[in-house]
Amino acid sequence: MARSVDWAEFLRFEQEQGQIFLRDYRMVLLSAYALGALRRELIETVGWDRARGLLKRFGYAAGLADSLALKDQLPDSTTAALLEYGPQLHALEGVVKTVQMSAGADAAQEGAYLVEGFWENSYEAEQHLALFGPSQVPVCWTLAGYASGHATAVSGEKTYLIETGCRAMGHERCSYIADSEQQLARQYPREKGDYQASHLPQVLDDLSATIARQQRQLRHKDRTIVQLQAQLGPSQEGLVGESRAWRQAIELARRVAPVDSTVLLLGESGTGKELVARDIQRHSRRADGPMVPVNCSTLPETLQEAELFGYAKGAFTGATAASPGLFASADGGTLFLDEIGDLTLQAQTKLLRALQEGEIKPIGEAQARRVDVRFIAATHRDLEAMVAAGSFRQDLFFRLNVISLELPPLRQRDNDALLLAEYFAAHFAAKFDKKVKRLSALAKRALAAYAWPGNVRELEHALERAVILADGPLIDLIDLPPKIGQTFDPEALDKMRERAQQEEQMRLFQAELAQWTTEKERLQKALEFAAGNRLQAAAMLGMSRTTLWRKLKKWGLE
Ligand SMILES: [Zn+2]
Repeated sequence: MARSVDWAEFLRFEQEQGQIFLRDYRMVLLSAYALGALRRELIETVGWDRARGLLKRFGYAAGLADSLALKDQLPDSTTAALLEYGPQLHALEGVVKTVQMSAGADAAQEGAYLVEGFWENSYEAEQHLALFGPSQVPVCWTLAGYASGHATAVSGEKTYLIETGCRAMGHERCSYIADSEQQLARQYPREKGDYQASHLPQVLDDLSATIARQQRQLRHKDRTIVQLQAQLGPSQEGLVGESRAWRQAIELARRVAPVDSTVLLLGESGTGKELVARDIQRHSRRADGPMVPVNCSTLPETLQEAELFGYAKGAFTGATAASPGLFASADGGTLFLDEIGDLTLQAQTKLLRALQEGEIKPIGEAQARRVDVRFIAATHRDLEAMVAAGSFRQDLFFRLNVISLELPPLRQRDNDALLLAEYFAAHFAAKFDKKVKRLSALAKRALAAYAWPGNVRELEHALERAVILADGPLIDLIDLPPKIGQTFDPEALDKMRERAQQEEQMRLFQAELAQWTTEKERLQKALEFAAGNRLQAAAMLGMSRTTLWRKLKKWGLE
């Protein structure tokens, strides 16, 4: 044990000067929240890989600075003591509690790392969990950087600390190993790159070249999309789904589309009411006419009548020019009134007359004018209850409720969440020109397990975010919004991760299967891919465990 130092005595708060010192070194107190916000911004701006490197180097600089301060202030300390002061300072600074397991003595032992240890209460894992949800890889990057910088500066030998387990992965605490670069280079080849700052002008050159290339590709894609759209006819976008509940709803919509009747669409928010309204319009005899969607909840109550039915010039203060209103702009086509429960009673009265008489009277005009409009209304509210409460006109409700169609919430649509997720992943990958190709097994399970209170709209936003965040061809759990990942408890997450890994190995194995021509080779490879797990190897080869055992014996592979 190194002699204990009273660190509090080192700290000097000079509040009047706006300064804090650790002996002679100026320190700054920051909230963990602020560091978390910076982390989020970095990740969203430069991507996961660059953000990890930046944060490790930031930590490295902090560790280096602290070690210099220590050397300066405690010049008589031995190297071993200085190494132990680093974690103590880190604790004083409120970053993390370090529990070192082995040091020095075991290092001579073959295969052992110089240092192994644990972290408790990592601020970084806490922030990461809060901002991004559970992670599949360790995330305490500034902590690792700090320890690497500190140890390197104290020992004079390039040293890395590598986090091997993390609170953000659902583990009880974070764990790490540390050793010289030389010892770790083979097993952790990527580590060195994280500590090499990118040279900015070079990065900018690369980025401009990439942007120019992508702009060329985009122009080309735009042309292709226009051509394809022309070939395909009206788009089917968003109507993806194979569940019984959804198919029934769409079938009903298609049946009522050609009949020129009023349709009332019911269902929770985000279930796709506007999409279905557009689908009805496309399959109606008004397909070539205008489609005017209006969300009543976005119209201020005082302006509802004016917006819907129009007004004459000077009809009220601010009416500097006449406006035909939304009803008139839908003439010959379809008017879709979403959130109709948000209309005032006055607007409801005028709407009822428009529906019954087929004519509207703009505010301040003497003459009514005829309009030919097919009317589709939608709401997530219980109109019958509103009628009972006196806030919705009963006669208007009866007039609207001729044909009502209830859209099912996403949680009642079997496997549709995954179909939609794949659809949106492809859609946003094309839109943002990203190479995202598929969803990881773990991400799929999370999507299937989540209840989707915001329905298809929530799913769409989740996938938009995931495509933007995804680093490579795979959308992973970490790319999804935290609350979707949080549907798992850590233990279940571990099991799922294990299963997902096995499935991934299985996929890789099958992708390469064709190139192994002999049975012996296939057996060897299966064992290799299954990391020696015979049950899994048998599953990969599509044979029983006993058959595998017999064949291993036959080829002398036991
Ligand atoms: Zn951690």
